[in-house]
Amino acid sequence: MEHPENEEQYTGLTVNDGVAQPPKVNPYAVRRKRKPMPTAAELVDGILRGDVTMLSRGVTLVESFNPDHQALAQEVIEKCLPHSGRSRRIGITGVPGAGKSTSIDAFGLHVLKDGGKLAVLAIDPSSERTKGSILGDKTRMERLAVHPNAFIRPSPSAGSLGGVARKTRETIVLCEAAGFDNIFVETVGVGQSETAVHSMVDFFLLIQLAGTGDELQGIKRGIMEMADGIVINKADGDNVSRAQLAQAQFRNALHLFPPTASGWVPEVLCYSGYYEIGIAEVWDMIDRYFAFAKANGYFEKRRLEQSRYWMYETIDETLRSRFYNNPDVAALLVDNERRVLDNRLSSFIAARNVLDFYFKQTNK
Ligand code: GDP
Repeated sequence: MEHPENEEQYTGLTVNDGVAQPPKVNPYAVRRKRKPMPTAAELVDGILRGDVTMLSRGVTLVESFNPDHQALAQEVIEKCLPHSGRSRRIGITGVPGAGKSTSIDAFGLHVLKDGGKLAVLAIDPSSERTKGSILGDKTRMERLAVHPNAFIRPSPSAGSLGGVARKTRETIVLCEAAGFDNIFVETVGVGQSETAVHSMVDFFLLIQLAGTGDELQGIKRGIMEMADGIVINKADGDNVSRAQLAQAQFRNALHLFPPTASGWVPEVLCYSGYYEIGIAEVWDMIDRYFAFAKANGYFEKRRLEQSRYWMYETIDETLRSRFYNNPDVAALLVDNERRVLDNRLSSFIAARNVLDFYFKQTNK
């Protein structure tokens, strides 16, 4: 290229040709077209055929916050409901590090040995998928992740516990309609989510570790009381005797609890998820429970009670979200909250102000 600056009168100044700038947009990138949204009938057809892609898309709709998606999801769920209910729903909890993923991998393979299909779902309201959910990260269950008859789905992304749990419960319906006859619902054993899981499973398994002699400390009594089975993981190598000691302590502790509603006496077993010792025994216990609860009618009773629970949960959740998502209410809340914080208004009157406004508005 000619540069006038390179003429003789400007000696001492040379301007070189620059390097051509690369294009800003990667010319090799192909814009992917978004797949069109299937209709409810297409989704239901696919799910009933056991098509995992359609199942995944259905679950994505269930998890969506978009009102159009939610409406479509409800239609799909309703059509799948008559085909649901025929699975064994098993809740699995334990503190982080207890060995849940290792164990689910081992239990899952054991279950799938006899055929059938397994779905592993998770409830972890604290996680956001984009940040790498601690539950549901497929690499944690290496063998199940590549098993053709296993479907692993991470926890729905962060939201209220009730919301996350409801989505998982709806996902169970879709998985059952798709022919999954074993459903594991995993949760971190640290708080509230256990109650939510307990209210959607038939059997609740608590994974524990042998500690330093004070095993029973730090375990929420409520969680232990919910458990239908307590299993002590990592009973391998020189940890076996400590695991057995913990087993005895848990058995003693369970005696102090009131009898369970089912009449079933929760069992305590030792096993090793990693070395796959005692996996069949844990599974036999779960089989025994199902036989027991089906024989005495508790299985059916528990499911009906759960249906009632979810009816009220859904009402609560809907009322709350309608209320808090109302923009006029939001403005009024800010104002009333400020007056409460300034000590100019009592909390009760503030609450009444906002509620009265909301009810008047909705009654119009
Ligand atoms: P999670 O956080 O409850 O899902 O636990 P992980 O399955 O990720 O296991 C936590 C750690 O414990 C990992 O390093 C596992 O390899 C280890 N682990 C899990 N199960 C066993 C077991 O049965 N025996 C031993 N020795 N280690 C185990």
